[in-house]
Amino acid sequence: MSMFCYQCQEAAGGKGCTVKGMCGKTKETANAQDLLVYICKGVAVYAVKAREIGLVVRDADMFIMDSLIAAGANENFDRDSIYDMVRNGLRVKFEVRQELSKAGVKFRGDIGWFMKNLSFWGLAKREKELNMPDAATWFARDIKVFEGKANQVGVLTTENEDTRSFRELLVYGLKGLASYAKQAENMGHREDIIDAFIQKSLVATLDDTVDASQLMSLILECGKYGVDSMELLDKANTQSYGNPETTLVNIGASNRPGILVSGHELKDLEELLRQTEGEGLDVYTHGEMLPANCYPELRKYGNLVGNYGNSWSKQNEEFESFNGPILMTGCCLAIPKDSYRDRLYTTGSACYPGVKHIPAARDGERKDFSEIIEQAKACQPPSDIEKGAITAGFGQNQLFGLTDKIVKAFESGTIKRIFVMAGCDGKAISRSYYTTFAEKLPKDAIILTAGCAKFRYNKLQLGDINGIPRIIDAGQCSNTYSFVLMAQRLKEALGLDGINKLPISYNIAWYGHRSIIMLLALLYLGVKNIHLGPTLPAFLSENIMEILNKDFGLTGITNAENDIEMFMNA
Ligand code: SF4
Repeated sequence: MSMFCYQCQEAAGGKGCTVKGMCGKTKETANAQDLLVYICKGVAVYAVKAREIGLVVRDADMFIMDSLIAAGANENFDRDSIYDMVRNGLRVKFEVRQELSKAGVKFRGDIGWFMKNLSFWGLAKREKELNMPDAATWFARDIKVFEGKANQVGVLTTENEDTRSFRELLVYGLKGLASYAKQAENMGHREDIIDAFIQKSLVATLDDTVDASQLMSLILECGKYGVDSMELLDKANTQSYGNPETTLVNIGASNRPGILVSGHELKDLEELLRQTEGEGLDVYTHGEMLPANCYPELRKYGNLVGNYGNSWSKQNEEFESFNGPILMTGCCLAIPKDSYRDRLYTTGSACYPGVKHIPAARDGERKDFSEIIEQAKACQPPSDIEKGAITAGFGQNQLFGLTDKIVKAFESGTIKRIFVMAGCDGKAISRSYYTTFAEKLPKDAIILTAGCAKFRYNKLQLGDINGIPRIIDAGQCSNTYSFVLMAQRLKEALGLDGINKLPISYNIAWYGHRSIIMLLALLYLGVKNIHLGPTLPAFLSENIMEILNKDFGLTGITNAENDIEMFMNA
């Protein structure tokens, strides 16, 4: 086996990719990502110790956050840039170790020996003798050594299948948590306690004495921090751009050249809108950027003209027909086709070999999008792929505003059931389930959605129930937690003693780390009987799945007709 990766819903054969990723990732990149996660764990060992004595180690915090994201599905396909991160991680690890030594932390009895023999090699040799984890003590400089090590530190090194399953569920949750926390941090909102939790959890995955129940506690705690990070991100977005407003978003193309912005980073979109003002260019959102059209402080830019296309999974066709440059601001990137590769730009966590990458802004400066803007001016306008408009923008405020109406609709029987159908989209053909499910839902049922899973049904004309739209779109995947807050309000208004007594069913579509943290957040908030599809995660072993089913009612999907009947009679 030349690689092993089972972190996303596309895992080959529902088991894992072993030769090349179904996502197009090479074995070299997959193995480099394994090493990067391993280095994160090693840096975390020292960062946890630093926190214990009040040392601030921001380099370690930043390295771990960025690296976990880069090691996620559909983020970074560039082996060389991953190894650059590994190199940086080794530097950070060594420097934090030095800081700890200077602060008097003793990793062994003979601190004087260390001070005289301060080097990567001395550190490694001495600490190995003192049972420090290999992830903490391992150092190297040569790429050949990196490659050798990368083959030895993948997920299969945890031999017990159930322990591996728990550990990987936690690590993928941490990757999702890092994604939301980093997005908030990019907008100036950071909580140190989230970094501390991530680091503590990474160290736990190295420790064979951490048992199943302790790992399960960490997994639920990860869900708690998932909720915190979603709140933090919501605060960052609404403080910067105002509360989302219900908006009819144009989905047609204009006759001016344009730039398409995909991924999740509203801040990049805002900067691009600012830099393109008065340049004769239109800016469109794609995929998870759709909700940007509903924030007042982004809508005020006249050059933000609507959303082009669907979810990330359709990018190969839609980036091609867009005709102009595309800016991918992070997850989710697919292997680019030659037809648009020279029009594709990545920034943030997204990276692909040979595709131009817009670097982060230097302190006090702005990200420079001038190259994209110049290229756009020479491009044809986008080809029209659809016309009309879709409704979006039910942020938390709007959702809470609907609560009274929904309570009345429940009481009068005009709404029988709500379906939370949030999550991520993907390429699997079986995802047509979600379109069929939405089409066949009884007319007294409504859908609450967030994340790019919605593109499977958000253009269906499902109408409304006494002014309540039958598809209510709350925004990006991170907005899913708002549904549980809304459920808590409904529960109180209806005098029920738990949110699971409400006529709400959770039919969640997952793809990768962003949907895993969403799932953990829902579990932490006490939501039971979540149905997860289109397939169950390959990384959940039979035993772990059984535990999750017994304790939380977590289960898979069957077919749309059967599932609708089952849900409506629940
Ligand atoms: Fe396979 Fe998904 Fe991993 Fe890509 S990210 S290698 S498709 S499991």
